[in-house]
Parts: sequence; structure tokens; C-alpha cells
Amino acid sequence: MRKVLLKHFLRIPDHREREKIDHELKDVCMGALAMFCFQDPSLLEFQKRTKAPVLGANLTNLWAIDSVPSDTQMRTVMDEIDSREFEGLFTTFFRLLQRGKHLGQYRALGNCYLCVIDGSEYFSSDHIGCPSCLRRKAKKRQGDALQFSHQIVQAALVHPKLPSVIPLCPEAVKNTDGQEKQDCETNAAKRLLAKIKKAHPKLPLIIVADSLYSKQPMIEAIASHDMHYVFTAKPDDHKMLMEWVNGLRLLNEVVHMEYVDRRGRTHVYEWASAVPLNGSKNSPLVNFFEYWLKDGQRVGYHNSWVTDLPLDDECIEEMVRIGRSRWMIENEVFNTVKNHGYHIEHNYGHGVKNLSFNFFLLNMLAFFLHQIFELTDRTYQWLRKNLGSKKNLWDHLRVFCHAIVFADWEDLLLRIASDYGYS
Ligand SMILES: [Zn+2]
Repeated sequence: MRKVLLKHFLRIPDHREREKIDHELKDVCMGALAMFCFQDPSLLEFQKRTKAPVLGANLTNLWAIDSVPSDTQMRTVMDEIDSREFEGLFTTFFRLLQRGKHLGQYRALGNCYLCVIDGSEYFSSDHIGCPSCLRRKAKKRQGDALQFSHQIVQAALVHPKLPSVIPLCPEAVKNTDGQEKQDCETNAAKRLLAKIKKAHPKLPLIIVADSLYSKQPMIEAIASHDMHYVFTAKPDDHKMLMEWVNGLRLLNEVVHMEYVDRRGRTHVYEWASAVPLNGSKNSPLVNFFEYWLKDGQRVGYHNSWVTDLPLDDECIEEMVRIGRSRWMIENEVFNTVKNHGYHIEHNYGHGVKNLSFNFFLLNMLAFFLHQIFELTDRTYQWLRKNLGSKKNLWDHLRVFCHAIVFADWEDLLLRIASDYGYS
């Protein structure tokens, strides 16, 4: 992994004048990635820690870092790097998992992979902003005061039965030069789909997303990329569709299936095929399905979706599981990076060009690295099981790196594990 990262960072063009360079670009990038991987809450804190000689030696051995820049230097250099330089790493990491045959377990509905997408805001401020920031009227302030924010649309490969999720490269919802109208989540999602198709042209994907996405432009974009979709369809967003389905119900053309499980709960499935999505002349035809989980008279869960995939009594249960896997991006990605050690909403530095998004990308890459450890490394898996939370494990890694010089990652993980009885 050290080699892979080094190779990638060494390829990033450095536009600084040679004589003004104190720290190599790869050291700046590796330093930032190491900081996010070790889950330091601030740049200054990380910088202070690196003064300890033992940690300095570990940064060289584990991360190939020869010198750590100051927090100001790191921000200045990172702000100038084109964010696209980091995007390729998501594909490189993905290929590593693919080549190691770790992706097969993520297959669903035969040969497909579930790719959940959703938008999220990772920065907002009434005072700090940059030209890429989205702008809206500040709620709590008088007059024309603005609030600045950064949002992304994130994609992740998931499987309803697997705890680890595999992030793909996010797309920023951002303002660019000369653009009059502000960017929006739907447009960013369309760019994201094109980017995913380019990076993984042969991967059979089912895009799973919430009701914001079950609209004609998005469905057409999915079809143009030869992908499939399962989108939540809320009654309030789809009045025509629901009226049509109710009409089909009266004609007995909605298929109904139900069974009672061992706990006495009733699972109810209904579906209809080739229903117009909206009232327009060129409306796409979608397959509609609905699910209720009932405990006696009480409805414990209820939702409805649209899809281009065919529906029948053999696949309907799996289709509902696929539709319900949408929560995984909120829980396993956004909630984890916001509340479980990654400090993704902390302002490590905003910059005037790319800093805010570059730090976000590197933090997401740190999350991806942890997922790779979790999927591929037995010692790491053992430690995760025995040390509880991921945060606790990385707290240990941080502390050990201050005390002992390790030859490589394997040496570090084995040392901690053996202290806890691993053999
Ligand atoms: Zn900004």
C-alpha cells in the first residue's frame, strides 16, 4: 500500500519553483493522509505529535514521509493541488480489492453490484468561504448575510449482509467560474454517474438512492450509462405514479404476496410492471414495488420503490432488501465519517482554491484504507473484533507509534495484536 500511494503521489505535478520547495509534494500528501488515517482532530495536533523522534521514524517506515511540513505549509501546498489528482486513488484502491477477489461477496441479484448514492454537506459557515462554496441566505443573521457550504454526492458499494462498505470517488456540488446558476445535487449526481462509468466501464451496477433521484432526468442518465436503478418513490413526490398504481389495484393488476415469519410478523409485497413514472408524454415506464412489515395491526416499516429491473415472486424479497440498503450510505459512510473518529466536519483549513475538498477527499481515502484493512488483513480483523470500536483501534495505533519504531504495517499490527493475546 505504501508503494501504491507513493507511486501515485510522486506523479502529481508540482508547480512550485524548485528553490522554494521545503517539503516534497509526496510528503505533503502522505502527511495529510497519515493525519486522517490516525484520526488526529487538527493539523496542529498532528504537527506537534510528529516532533517526537519515534513517530518521525514511523512516518518514514509506514508512510515514506521524509519531512513533515508545518500546518501552514501543508494548507498552502494542498490548496493548489487539482482535486482530480486524488480521484484516481479511489479507482486504484478499488482495483486492489478486485484483484484480491474481495469484491465477489458484494454481488447481488446474480452478477450485479449495489452502488448507493446520496448527497451530504460536510462544511458550512457564516464567515469562512471560498469561490467554490455554495451560498445561501444565512438563517440566523439579518439582511443579505450569506452562509457558505460544501456538499458532495458520495457513492459506495454495499451489500445488505456485509458491514464493510466500499467508497467510490465523491463528486463535489460546487460553484465554478462563470457559472450563473448554483450547482445542485442532481447535476453533481449526473457527473458522478459518468465518472463511475468511466472508471468502471464493465462493472454491472444497480444504483440505489432516495426519492430525490426517482425523477425522469436521473432515470434517463442511468439508462444512458447502461446501469440499473432501485429508487425510493415517495407518494408525495409521485402523485401520478401512485394514482396509476391504485388504478391497477382496482383492476387486480397489482401482484400481492405475503407471508408470516417465525416471529409472527407479516411481510407484505406488492408490485406492478410498466407504470408511467409521471404525467409527461415521454414518461419512462418503471416497475413499481411496495413493502409493509406488520406486527399485528402495527406497521413497523413501509416503503415503495421504482426500478427498471423485472419483478416476480422469486426476486421481490431481494429487491426489497436492495431498496432498504440505501440506509447504509447514511449509517456506514456519512455517520461514520462525521461521528466516529474522522472529524469530517472539522475545518482543517478552507483555502481559496481546492483545500477544503482536497482534505475531504484525503479523509475519505483514509476511511477507504481502513475498509481495505478490514476486508483484507487478518490481524486487523482480529484487532477490530477484540478492541471494539474502530476509533479505539486507531487510538492504539497512534499510541504505539509514539513508543516503538515499526518496520512496516504488518509489524505494527502484529505487535498490538500479540499484546492482546493474538497468536
Ligand atoms: Zn468553500
